Amino acid sequence: MTVFTKSGPGDAIDVAVIGAGPTGLMIANLLGVHGLRVCVFEAEPQLIDFPRGVGMDDETCRTFQAAGLVDAVLPHTVPDQLLVFVDRKQRDLARIAPSTGEFGWPRRSGFVQPLADRVLLEGLGRFDSVDVDWSSRVTGFTQDADGVELAIAAPEGARTVRASYVVGADGGSSATRKALGFDFAGISAAADWFVIDIRNDPLGRPGAYVCADPRRPYVSISIPHGIRRFEFMLKPGETEAEAMTDEFVARLLKPFVPPTAPVDIIRRRVYRHHSRMAEHFRSGRVFLIGDAAHVMPVWQGQGYNSGIRDALNLSWKLAMVLRGQAGDQLLDSYESERREHIRAMIQLSTWVGRLVSINNRAGAGARNLFFRALAAVPSAKSYIVQMRFKPMPTMARGALTPVGSLSEPTPVGRLFIQPTVCTRTAGSVKLDDAVGPWFTLMAWNNDPRAILDDDARRRLERSGVRLVAARPAVQLHWDEAAPDDSVLIVGDLDGSLKRWFDAHAESVLLLRPDRIVGGASRAYAASEMVRGFDLAIAAPVPERVP
Ligand SMILES: Cc1cc2nc3c(=O)[nH]c(=O)nc-3n(C[C@H](O)[C@H](O)[C@H](O)COP(=O)(O)OP(=O)(O)OC[C@H]3O[C@@H](n4cnc5c(N)ncnc54)[C@H](O)[C@@H]3O)c2cc1C
Repeated sequence: MTVFTKSGPGDAIDVAVIGAGPTGLMIANLLGVHGLRVCVFEAEPQLIDFPRGVGMDDETCRTFQAAGLVDAVLPHTVPDQLLVFVDRKQRDLARIAPSTGEFGWPRRSGFVQPLADRVLLEGLGRFDSVDVDWSSRVTGFTQDADGVELAIAAPEGARTVRASYVVGADGGSSATRKALGFDFAGISAAADWFVIDIRNDPLGRPGAYVCADPRRPYVSISIPHGIRRFEFMLKPGETEAEAMTDEFVARLLKPFVPPTAPVDIIRRRVYRHHSRMAEHFRSGRVFLIGDAAHVMPVWQGQGYNSGIRDALNLSWKLAMVLRGQAGDQLLDSYESERREHIRAMIQLSTWVGRLVSINNRAGAGARNLFFRALAAVPSAKSYIVQMRFKPMPTMARGALTPVGSLSEPTPVGRLFIQPTVCTRTAGSVKLDDAVGPWFTLMAWNNDPRAILDDDARRRLERSGVRLVAARPAVQLHWDEAAPDDSVLIVGDLDGSLKRWFDAHAESVLLLRPDRIVGGASRAYAASEMVRGFDLAIAAPVPERVP
């Protein structure tokens, strides 16, 4: 059997991805966008086809956008899905309904994972250089200085395949992680949960409700396309075998659905929440992403989203290294940039899980009082409603440069906003679509060519950086277009860009393909900043000066 069915036998693989879950499929798409030769090896004969992750955040929507697939996935989402934590008597404890969209997408949407996974799979069909081998289990690998040899077991027999790099996206029980000998330290929750997915949603209400009932906490969520998800905490002594019976399910559903109403169950499953992170995410040419690298309770819906963040972070770095635009040490920044953010997500998800799972009346009463007191303070209430508690990527170390940054806190290492802008050819377009999927150097109120010296310009050219001049939309046409199209003029349609630059001391930004600010400076220091960034991706990762 050949590895590449599209491009013919014998082709070398740049990246072998183990696992066709959402993180493996996403990184394959992003690598495809960057033109790399990729093969995804999946042990199963097809995609896993039942609802799993149910919450998609704005960062993940933005990553689907980067992969060119956001229009295809949006029909499988509920934008701005309300998330309400209620007490036993259905009184609000915390209502999460963010109204902002600073990154270009709703801060939280409900979604159907198998359909989003299918969008990712179908997206791979756009690339001649990307393929998926089904029923192909990776059973081992050995690496040397130039690449990795993978052993594949498939129905037609065993074979070996060689790749420059390997991405282990093989889920929570990752054989890749085990083969690398990495510890998966952390904790597992004390109680099991029982999940039931029902077709033809018997309730139909659009939100997601988490009821912190100390007698039996439960979750009721509307999933797109007529699915209702219930999750119930199992009590001590309730076994998995008992939970799977129709009688048990009928007893749990009785308070919600009258016995006469039809209930079309598509999935029932007992599972346990884990809070664990791999000891390392990289060993030589092999990386771990997604559940293979970390697992967390579902309470913030961040297991899925964290994996998508991993895929985005690693993808452009692999592309740079494989194209010879950066040294292999750039790949170390994947772990140094992702680790603390994942830890924060695990901690938040674990903490929320503990609050929801309190199973004694006194503890639940104290928790309810605490949340009512918080809700009485407008700033605290808004903090929760607007989801400002969600840890945002804040990278202190990695492919970043402190050179030229003056603001405190620095915008470097943080996600840049995504307003809707205009260009000379598009009346209204999201910023990322306007500037494209690679690096951008954006200057406010300046032509970047005029403020950069020859050396900085050459460095940017070498890495294919897009030069962007941002200005108020009314100024869009005031001067001649650059004859060689070397600068993209971006008009600030709704004032979001100006407000951002008003709030910061810097006026020139180097935006990475993952839209993290890699460097920021005033106009006079732009060339130094560019050289600083070049060094950061070429040399061992420096500590950022606080
Ligand atoms: C059963 C289950 C239920 C879940 N329920 C929820 C939920 O209710 N809410 C929520 O937010 N999240 C849930 N999650 C978590 C969420 O779905 C995950 O965070 C997300 O799917 C992680 O994606 P991934 O690509 O990292 O791993 P996975 O989706 O687990 O994909 C890993 C893939 O790797 C393949 N694979 C494994 N080993 C090999 C090998 N050796 N060779 C080739 N292929 C291999 C597997 O077959 C699988 O397709 C659930 C996960 C699972 C597994």
